[in-house]
Amino acid sequence: MPNLNDKYLSRPRRQELLPFSPPDIGQEEIDEVVDSLRSGWITTGPKTALFEQDLAGYLGCRQVVALNSATAGLFLCLKQMRIGPGDEVITTPYTFAATVNVILHCGARPVLADVREDDFNIDPQKVERAVTSRTRAIIPVHFAGRSCDLEAIGAIAQRHSLEVIEDAAHAIGAEYRGRKIGAVSRFTVFSFHAVKNLTTGEGGAIATDDERAAGNLRAMALHGMNKDAWNRFAPGGKWQYDIVLPGYKHNMMDLQAALGIHQLRKLESFIVRRGEIARQYRAGLYDLPALRLPGEYQAGRQTWHLYPILVDFDRMDIDRAGFIDLLAEQNISANVHYLPVHLFRHYRECLGYQPGDFPVAEKLSNREVTLPLYTRLSDRDVEDVIAAVRKTVTEHLK
Ligand SMILES: *Cc1c(COP(=O)(O)O)cnc(C)c1O
Repeated sequence: MPNLNDKYLSRPRRQELLPFSPPDIGQEEIDEVVDSLRSGWITTGPKTALFEQDLAGYLGCRQVVALNSATAGLFLCLKQMRIGPGDEVITTPYTFAATVNVILHCGARPVLADVREDDFNIDPQKVERAVTSRTRAIIPVHFAGRSCDLEAIGAIAQRHSLEVIEDAAHAIGAEYRGRKIGAVSRFTVFSFHAVKNLTTGEGGAIATDDERAAGNLRAMALHGMNKDAWNRFAPGGKWQYDIVLPGYKHNMMDLQAALGIHQLRKLESFIVRRGEIARQYRAGLYDLPALRLPGEYQAGRQTWHLYPILVDFDRMDIDRAGFIDLLAEQNISANVHYLPVHLFRHYRECLGYQPGDFPVAEKLSNREVTLPLYTRLSDRDVEDVIAAVRKTVTEHLK
């Protein structure tokens, strides 16, 4: 530690604010959006079809249905399975609210199962214990882009005839035991929200090998029409269409797909760069007392969507808010992922959850601080973050 502190504690304070998670949009994306704007076709059309095709090729699945969000994707998968009132769906408390909200939107009951301390991911043993005669599906979330234990979860699903819908909002490009996330379970849902590893501003997609389900999901995403608007209005397309079900309005626009086409081409290099930054953080922080850094992942490639560190505040004279404020004073933005879902007011009130119900999630959440991790960070930016964290920890250890 003396050596690393010598290196970092004399480093001058950063001058301008380092943002938390800006997107990495290049000239290719900008040109493609302008091309859409000039083409006369800005909503769902040829670019969305190309993005779906490219993404299916990348993931190694038969069908991709591009949508306006991952939330829409999770919702449509539940609808596809006809999950509704009286049904239960098991998911994790360690996620963004959307994962739980979609279950409520269907009229079903979310049942939470606590996470594992080592990787923040849902604990298969706790899933097994949460299964009842009403359980229909499991939604595992690959926190920070590390795959859940899909083998154990798949075995539970098979034993109890449940569906698995992966919430892979953090995990595009991740792998699990040699298979790409997106080619493992029946349905996998990705997010392309502005902060995600691949962005279309807002957007999402469902990956599946089930061709019939994909057709139905496509119809549900666009009013229940039996052909999409592009097919109807394309040269030679027909004006007739039918409504085969009362659908929703969840389609992706070509303006979004224009971004996605180029983001996907850069995704591999994005993941490599994220991994480099994670290694730089480890090299600069590994020796600090009171910190636990994310480790290497054994079961396949992780996407490093987040860099979550755990701070033992019992050993410090500041709390988490104080820690984040001190980083902000040094012009470093940090964040928290996540406040556990069951502690938000609505879920406490409507599902009867209380503090203490998911002790592992609560313990992790109380200590978690997310450091900035995105492709546009320079090595110097990362050094500034390391210096700010080292200074804060060193000055506030009890
Ligand atoms: C971002 C996110 C979502 C929601 O994605 P949208 O595309 O914004 O709907 C769902 N689950 C997790 C874990 C997320 O991080």
